[in-house]
Amino acid sequence: MKIKAPVTKNQRVDVTIADLTYQGMGVAKVDDFSLFVENALPGEQVTIQVTKVQKHYGFARVVSWQTTSPDRVADVDKTYRQTGIAPLQHLAYPAQLTFKQHQIEELFAKAHIDVTVDPTLGMANPTQYRNKAQVPVRMVKGQLETGIYRQHSHELIPLTDFYIQDPEIDKAIVKVRDLLRQFEIPAYDEINDKGVIRNVMVRRGYYSHEMMIVLISRQQKLPSQAQLVEEIHKEIPAATSIILNVNARRTNVIMGNVTRVLYGKPTIEDQLLGLTFAISARSFYQVNPQQTEKLYQMAIDKAGLTGNETVIDAYCGIGTISLALAKHTKQVYGVEIVPEAIEDAKVNAQKNHITNVEFAVNKAEDQMAQWQEAGVKPDVIVVDPPRKGLASSLIDSAAKMAPEKVVYVSCNPATLVRDVAHFQELGYAIDGAIQPVDQFPQTPHVESVTVLKRAK
Ligand code: SAH
Repeated sequence: MKIKAPVTKNQRVDVTIADLTYQGMGVAKVDDFSLFVENALPGEQVTIQVTKVQKHYGFARVVSWQTTSPDRVADVDKTYRQTGIAPLQHLAYPAQLTFKQHQIEELFAKAHIDVTVDPTLGMANPTQYRNKAQVPVRMVKGQLETGIYRQHSHELIPLTDFYIQDPEIDKAIVKVRDLLRQFEIPAYDEINDKGVIRNVMVRRGYYSHEMMIVLISRQQKLPSQAQLVEEIHKEIPAATSIILNVNARRTNVIMGNVTRVLYGKPTIEDQLLGLTFAISARSFYQVNPQQTEKLYQMAIDKAGLTGNETVIDAYCGIGTISLALAKHTKQVYGVEIVPEAIEDAKVNAQKNHITNVEFAVNKAEDQMAQWQEAGVKPDVIVVDPPRKGLASSLIDSAAKMAPEKVVYVSCNPATLVRDVAHFQELGYAIDGAIQPVDQFPQTPHVESVTVLKRAK
């Protein structure tokens, strides 16, 4: 059946915004045809102009508002909305928290799984929270700039205040930018695959205030490298680690495989829940330290440990959850795919004088199968996978080990729902309410903790 779109490009229509997509776009319906509208909130009566018509849906922009939502935040900087920085900035924070809670409820309802989702645990100050920045370096109008890409593009918007980042990180980026200009280091040119400096990554310890600066280069060595590093160190004394990462490939992946220390240590330290962690350039580390403490505490509480349990922490990164759990239990096994992260994890166990943890570098799904075959009998399995969720084979191996509980820390409710359904087929059921924790204020990302319990 061929449906003809009821609108054409450039046409203006009056509509009421019906919904908000999981990416934060307003949805307007013309007949049954959906138009996605940036900067439009549910309930708002607006005049829109169609910008693009595709087969099954289209896009439009707001020309004027007849009414605005009570949840609208006025006077926001549109750069933050048009980039990945803060697509939800125009939605009041309490409404963002409800939006995230409802998203989980809705996805479970669609899968016909009965759940209770508690209100999202938010932040008192939901800005300037990120402890890490990764910014592209490009030439814009003949000048080296740092900033952010416009969404779905590689057009750099120069920026010095990133709104959701630790302001000390923003300041460091500007200083590095100015030094790159001063030493005339050529910025990477994506189109011709030329130039040198591709990205700058900065991480700052929330408690330690130590800073790591990673210069990501297309070449093995930067021009004027020694002087540049000396100046960075002078200008940013908190930078206790200055690193060169080499990425010579033509790729969107930010870091390459070669990492060299140019100044100081290969890691910086930070604390979480009273434990100290060394973090190297290529290791994953949660970006919102204040909320991470709440998230981990929640996972620990929900694990319900008495001190005698064997626990597996899959997707353990630098061992943050593993070590936080270790204090409350007999034995912890952690697995993670990035070798540098496991090196950090082992150092971190020593740093905190924790001896009842064993770490493995492996794919979690393969390691889980190995543990299962080796007869490991965990009482609790904690999983904290990336957005794509759990490998189906991991769920099978996990269920074969018959843990009493699975604590699922999820950064993507869509894959959470899929994986919960699989666990249910294998005799597990959701225990208690799902708890969303807002790790990413101003963005549509949804983090949550779910407990699955084995049926008796
Ligand atoms: N629990 C940690 C890390 C969570 S992020 C923390 O809170 O800090 C997810 C981690 O999974 C990342 O460290 C990533 O490197 C790792 N990872 C991704 N795919 C994996 C896989 N197939 N097997 C094991 N680890 C994987």
